[in-house]
Amino acid sequence: MTTPLIQLHGVSKYYGSGDALVKALDQIDLRIDEGELVAVMGQSGSGKSTCMNIVGCLDKPTSGQYLFRGVDVGALDLKQTALLRRYYLGFVFQGFNLLARTSAIENVELPLVYRRVGARERREKAMEALNLVGLSGRENHQPNQLSGGQQQRVAIARALVSSPSVVLADEPTGNLDSARSHEVMALLAKLSQDRKITVLVITHEPEMAEYCSRIIEFRDGHVMSERRSSLPG
Ligand code: ADP
Ligand code: MG
Repeated sequence: MTTPLIQLHGVSKYYGSGDALVKALDQIDLRIDEGELVAVMGQSGSGKSTCMNIVGCLDKPTSGQYLFRGVDVGALDLKQTALLRRYYLGFVFQGFNLLARTSAIENVELPLVYRRVGARERREKAMEALNLVGLSGRENHQPNQLSGGQQQRVAIARALVSSPSVVLADEPTGNLDSARSHEVMALLAKLSQDRKITVLVITHEPEMAEYCSRIIEFRDGHVMSERRSSLPG
């Protein structure tokens, strides 16, 4: 049996205390294998972002264990955790989070700057990533010169440029119209297939979840259900 990419064992995240205690996640178990494309669904406040932030090492659980390729993430120090984030994880957000007044190519290069990749290799890899998301020719456009869908594709290129094992996308279609949402989901599905990247996508919309091979539904800090999607994944 191969080691799962991501495993959560009895993970809880609590905020506040006493009467104000919020159990954002309550003893959840989760397993995600290499190459899966997984949708995370559930009502607002059900714990989806909290779970993704823990998986993305942006936040730590109150209790429970997180294993990444069998490695206990809770036992890593700050520097090791930062390296895990930088080398294995890519992030895509609802609001794109691109730097304003900065060209598409420079936005995409940013993760490579943090990795101290040289300027020339940076440029090559960023061009390749922009090409992959269908934005060749838009390298020098700034975010405000691009549509929402194009901006999200720049953000996806930025997540991909460092060849991560996992892309974590928190409502990546939340600010897009239906046609652009379908484009972004189709792109994520294609990347997961062609490049064997594991993708975790939070979405409210059943139509978008159908691009994924598995759908996990959260309710009140619990994993309420898991099912294989009706479409071939
Ligand atoms: P979702 O992404 O499913 O909408 P979240 O994971 O953001 O849900 O939130 C789950 C619960 O935890 C909610 O009740 C939310 O109010 C609470 N919560 C999230 N982050 C914080 C925080 N930093 N401080 C206090 N409560 C929080
Ligand atoms: Mg959320």
